[in-house]
Formats: sequence, C-alpha cells, structure tokens
Amino acid sequence: MPDRGTRPLVVGSGIAGLYVALRCRELGLRPTIVTKARLEESNTRYAQGGIAAAIGPDDSPARHFADTVRAGAGLVDREAARVLTREAPARIADLVRYGVPFDTVEGQITLGREAAHSRSRLLHAGGDATGHSIEETLKQRLLDEGVEARERTALRALRPGGRDGLVAVLSVASGTGVEVEPARPVVLATGGIGSLYLQSSNPSVATGEGIAIAFRAGALVSDMEFVQFHPTAFYREGAPRFLITEAMRGEGAVLRNEDGVRFMVGQHPDAELAPRDVVARAIWREVQRSTHPWVYLDATGLPRDRLFARFPSVSNFLLAHGVDPSREMIPVTPVAHYMIGGVSTDLEGRSSVQGLFAVGEAAATGVHGANRLGSNSLVEGLVFGERAARRLRSPAAGGPVPPARVLAIPPPQGLGGREQRSEVSGIRTSLWEEVGIVRSATTLRSALARFEEIGRRTEPARSDGLPGPVANAALTASLVARAALERTESRGVHYRSDYPRPRPVWRRHLGLKLGRTPGRGR
Ligand SMILES: Cc1cc2nc3c(=O)[nH]c(=O)nc-3n(C[C@H](O)[C@H](O)[C@H](O)COP(=O)(O)OP(=O)(O)OC[C@H]3O[C@@H](n4cnc5c(N)ncnc54)[C@H](O)[C@@H]3O)c2cc1C
Repeated sequence: MPDRGTRPLVVGSGIAGLYVALRCRELGLRPTIVTKARLEESNTRYAQGGIAAAIGPDDSPARHFADTVRAGAGLVDREAARVLTREAPARIADLVRYGVPFDTVEGQITLGREAAHSRSRLLHAGGDATGHSIEETLKQRLLDEGVEARERTALRALRPGGRDGLVAVLSVASGTGVEVEPARPVVLATGGIGSLYLQSSNPSVATGEGIAIAFRAGALVSDMEFVQFHPTAFYREGAPRFLITEAMRGEGAVLRNEDGVRFMVGQHPDAELAPRDVVARAIWREVQRSTHPWVYLDATGLPRDRLFARFPSVSNFLLAHGVDPSREMIPVTPVAHYMIGGVSTDLEGRSSVQGLFAVGEAAATGVHGANRLGSNSLVEGLVFGERAARRLRSPAAGGPVPPARVLAIPPPQGLGGREQRSEVSGIRTSLWEEVGIVRSATTLRSALARFEEIGRRTEPARSDGLPGPVANAALTASLVARAALERTESRGVHYRSDYPRPRPVWRRHLGLKLGRTPGRGR
C-alpha cells in the first residue's frame, strides 16, 4: 500500500490549518504543519466579532442557512451552506473540548448578534478577542500533541512525474534556501489575500500564495472577483489598520465626514448600520472628495465605561495610539478584509488536482456566494477542515464541479528576473485604487496590464522554476483583476461603476484555470 493520506502536509496555521492538523492527528494520521511566520500569526488571531453557530434556544441550522443564503446575493452554493450551518454546532463542541474559553454567564455560553443574522448566534471569547483565544488554544493543543511544525514559506507545488495524488511543496526557510518536501497530500490553509491591498485589516502574512500555488499546479480557482471590504479600520500613517468592529456602530457610534456631517443619513434606511459594502462605498465616495484619505467614526456619545467594557481590545489599541474614543473622533478607512474566492473545492476540501486540498479562507466552496455573512468564516475553517481531515484518512478521487463559466488563462511566462520587494507596493496600490471598492473596465484593464508586466519580468523562466513572492503576488492580483473584468455587473461585494446593477445572466460562478477547459453548470 502506498503511504497516501498518512502524512499530510498542512500549509498555514490559522484556524483551518491548526484544526485540520489536530483532527488528522486524532484520526491516526501523521501531519506536519509548515507556516511562514510564527505559528500563531494569521488572520484568525485578529478576529474580533465572533464565530457563528445555531446553538441558541430560539435558533436552528435552518435559520442560519436562510441568513447565509440571503446575504450571498444569489450565488450561495446551497449544499455548502446546508453543510456549514448543520455541522457548525458540532465543531463548536470540538472547540469547547479543546478548551476554548467562550464567554459565559452563569455557565451558559453568551451569544452576540451582528447585522444580517436573524438570531443571536455569535460565540465570543475574551469579549472582542475571540480569534486570539481560539488561535492560542489550538496552537497549545497542537504543541501538546507533538505535531511537527516548521517555519517555511511554501511557494510552489509540483506533481513529480505527473503522478496522481502526490504533491511536493517547494518552500523557503529563512537563510537556508529552498527545500523540497517529499510528495504527499497537501492541504493549503494559507488564508486570504488582504495584505496585497494597500489598505487592509489583514496581517502581512495574508498574501494569497496558496491561491497562486494551486493555480500554477493546474487547479481551478473561482469567485476571485469577490473581495469583501470592511468599512471601518483605524487610519494613522505608520499604524496598523486595526479593525473597528461594526458592533461599535451597533452601539450608537456614527460616521462623519471632514466637515463633521453624518453622511450615511439619507443614503440608506439603516444609515451607519447599512450592509458593509454600502457603507464602504459611501466612505470611498466621501474620501474621493475629501482633503485626506479617511473619515471619522464618532463614539463620543457613548458612556466611557460602556465603551471600554464592551470593546476592550479596540479601546486599548486606540488609547495606545493616542486616541481616546470617548473624547475624540476616530479616523477610519475602509479596508480589504476577506477573500470570498480562492481554490475551488468540493465539500471535503478536494481541489481539482488530486492530492491537493484547500480549506478556510484559501478555499472557495461557494458557501459565501457573492457576499459573506459576518462571522461565518472562522466556522467555515472548522466545518470543511473536519471533512477534509476525514477524507485524508480514506482518500478517494473527487473535486469541485466546475462553475458554469471557466476562463482559460495562458500559463504565466517570464524572464526570471531578480525580484524587487518594492514592486509589491505597486501591486498593493494598484489593487486598492483600481481593483478595489469601486472598479470599472478602465481601471481593471490598467491594473491587469501592470500585474502582467510585473509577471513577465519576475516569473521563472522555466515552467517548473520557483516563483518568488512578487511573482506569486502579481499572479494572484491578476486573477482578481481578470475575474472582476469578466463579471460585467455589480453583485454583492463586487461593484462596477460601468455596470452598477446585478444582471440575471451573471447569476453564476466564474472559474479561472490554466489552459483551455470546458465548463459544466453549477
Ligand atoms: C481583523 C479581522 C477580524 C475578523 N473578524 C472575524 C470574526 O469576528 N468572525 C469571523 O468568522 N471571521 C473574522 N475574520 C475573518 C477570519 O479571521 C478569517 O477568514 C479566518 O481566520 C481565516 O482562517 P484561515 O485559517 O483560513 O487563514 P488564516 O487565519 O489567515 O491563516 C493562514 C495561515 O497561512 C500561513 N501562510 C500563508 N501563506 C503561506 C505560505 N506561502 N507558506 C506557509 N504558510 C503560509 C499564514 O502565516 C497563516 O498562518 C476577521 C479577519 C480579520 C483580519
């Protein structure tokens, strides 16, 4: 018997990677984790709001399902949403078993509520430190279980000799050069692409390398045009774009422009509590006519003790950066926040390349449609992570059904030129300004030309060469721009000023793949 499935290589150590590795271990496999920074560094660590599951007495998976489908602007894969919402409570029980200290009152887990959820169903830990708490607990458990973890940046996956089910990862360890992992099943749990955008809530590790790795290996990627922007992150030159949760607006904080005017009133019946994409676009428009790239979130009307008790992490971060939110207005900007698209997978994490799996934010199951329901992403990593771990235990061929439209993209070719890290800042600016909250054919074509030009210089000259981080960033950015250019409508988080409305012809997913591939309907 070949050694298939027994030694999976998990790339990434956020909720999805840590959970898959732990479950693989519990199921008798011998997983290894490689991750490009400290084990705990990830988007997961910064999640504030909570993790969604229908565990309340007045709630049910059916209600959670209905809310997820409603948020997704006509594109949610219903089976994926059914699986997510039905299996979420069992995965929360796993987190409790691992020791995640969810907040309780008199022994009962307390549940918060967020926009577009019809019931209170957000579990949180340490108030607004939910992600930190989950990450630390899973990390400790992983170390206790003795799972091997190495600091490596994966840059490429190859199938030696084209053999099925075996994927080798080439990675770089700082200072020691390239390593080749022995061929074995690979699980990409590499998270999103947020930090490729100039303004982003994501830490610097979120560069979408997993998507580039899968695409180069021949895997289908989909929904790349759907990048969710969060309306409010702290803006100060040199400071991180720390997210200011919308729960603060829920408590009564309001948005003001540089003249002190509440600009959301009259734009939407829910004013500051309008959907994220509506608020983000309104701020974008204000910034275009403003003398500086931010607007203000005014929480000075809230009692100081309530503000600090309800939002300890946010309030302490602001104080540390010289802003007392109970006395001064907070400068805020929208930021790239969550990547809905990614490596196309089935509901067990299998990509279209045998032996290559993807879970969490790096994957695209279709569960979020064109607009993610807040707090569904942490739980997504658990639900589909569990299914991937079980599939790794008893491998069988499978993979996603290709979407109705699949664009064939010629293999990237380049001169193998030396990479200048400074080129990443050009990619970040271009993504933000031209492939951002508001796009059009003109801006998208301009961005695509820039990304392709960077790719031509930096792509490896040989088809099995090792791309650097700039080549991978340019490739991922070009996939976002291509998909956004192709989708000639506005839907969910994708807004085109030249096609400002949804079009029935586009009520379908869009895939991208190397070469020429016929598509089947989904
Ligand atoms: C500020 C903020 C607040 C959020 N709040 C919430 C919330 O309240 N509720 C919710 O559900 N979601 C929230 N989200 C979204 C959620 O946190 C993420 O979608 C989720 O944590 C993704 O988990 P993941 O395991 O897929 O990826 P991540 O947690 O991002 O982990 C990815 C891992 O891959 C590693 N990696 C990346 N590339 C490579 C490479 N090439 N080689 C090796 N390793 C690599 C990274 O270092 C990292 O360890 C928030 C996100 C942010 C940024």
